[in-house]
Amino acid sequence: MERFDAVVVGAGPAGSTAAWRLARAGASVLLIDRARFPRDKPCGGGLTLRAVREAPVDVSPVVEDVVDRMELRLNFGRTFERGGDKPLVWMTQRRRLDAHLLEEAARAGTVVRDGVRVTGLTEEPDGVTVSWEGGRARSAVLVGADGANGLSARSLGFTSSYVHGVAFEGNVRYDHVSQGRYGGRVVVELGGIPGGYGWVFPKGDHVNVGLGGWEEEGPRLRTELRRLCAEHGVCLEDLEEIRGYRLPLREPTSVLARGRSLVVGDAAGLVDPVSGDGMFEGFLSAQYASEAVLDVLAGRAGALEPYGPRLAGRLARQLWASWGVKGALDRFPRTTFAVARTQIVWRAVERLVRGEVSDIGEVHGLARPPLKALALLARAAGDPGRAYRGA
Ligand SMILES: Cc1cc2nc3c(=O)[nH]c(=O)nc-3n(C[C@H](O)[C@H](O)[C@H](O)COP(=O)(O)OP(=O)(O)OC[C@H]3O[C@@H](n4cnc5c(N)ncnc54)[C@H](O)[C@@H]3O)c2cc1C
Repeated sequence: MERFDAVVVGAGPAGSTAAWRLARAGASVLLIDRARFPRDKPCGGGLTLRAVREAPVDVSPVVEDVVDRMELRLNFGRTFERGGDKPLVWMTQRRRLDAHLLEEAARAGTVVRDGVRVTGLTEEPDGVTVSWEGGRARSAVLVGADGANGLSARSLGFTSSYVHGVAFEGNVRYDHVSQGRYGGRVVVELGGIPGGYGWVFPKGDHVNVGLGGWEEEGPRLRTELRRLCAEHGVCLEDLEEIRGYRLPLREPTSVLARGRSLVVGDAAGLVDPVSGDGMFEGFLSAQYASEAVLDVLAGRAGALEPYGPRLAGRLARQLWASWGVKGALDRFPRTTFAVARTQIVWRAVERLVRGEVSDIGEVHGLARPPLKALALLARAAGDPGRAYRGA
């Protein structure tokens, strides 16, 4: 049986950056993924600047477009555009980003095994045994980074309290849509799907078009995607690689770590409820997880439990606000849209997206009154995020 300080299951953004951080700190690390790389993952590929700030390695080699403006529309009617001065989002393709992060993890000293599906995890008091067809490894700690459909969270008993969104997307080449219209710009379509939105994201030679919402909206998504495409002058038939995927959203009570195991990224249900983004949370959780792992490996802590409350505390206000805005958009779309379009609120949104403030609690000054109005709308919608605030 092979032995490592840490085994990381899953080589998405969360797993590869956790492995990178641990290997760089001198730990022996095995990173396993069932897919052979390069592999794709259904995703808009939008790296907000706050996600870029959190990434421990330079991701600029795989950036295909830089977005500095956002166009928001309600029910394919009222529209506003903001930005145009500083970058907000870097656009990549997951096939390229994830291969790049995996290579960086390997370069930092991680032992990488792709094309290997983990089939079992056995917890013991002082470590974890990881099994796959034809092999096993023993490690002092396990990082579960195997995404929305992985086995770590399930087999470790961490997932009993997740809810899910679902998203559906595809790519259209610039032969069929105008690069002048979409390049450097994100288009967000609100009001169409309960619990979500539609988007058009620019890439090097195509745009990514997609939409998401509550899981029960799944059966409607193909029809809604056709409508979204038509609004942007595209035939659904010109969309390539159409696919859907789940977005896992943790509840305040969900467990993030126990004994010698923890979960990061989508395996931990860390997708933001209003934006559907998960890469910032993937990078952030990988950072907090690697700190907790290094404490255990160095004998400074006996178990990984401190990771859970630390991460939940860092994300508490963000989750409270995001769930609130999601509730307000579902219940009062027009009023919420009207408040969001004000320049003052938009400046606050830009600062959050760029990571200049870590959450809404750090936004002061003139933005407070309209943000209070949003908070009132959220409260009138049942304040769906209140339980996170105390997490
Ligand atoms: C349609 C859509 C659009 C999105 N758009 C954006 C966006 O624009 N920006 C953003 O920030 N977020 C976006 N997200 C969310 C984002 O894609 C996820 O939050 C992100 O991929 C999470 O990264 P991760 O590393 O946790 O998991 P993943 O990227 O899902 O990686 C998990 C890995 O685990 C591997 N694995 C699974 N099971 C096993 C096993 N048994 N053994 C070994 N390996 C296994 C998988 O092969 C995979 O490589 C979007 C999501 C969807 C569905």
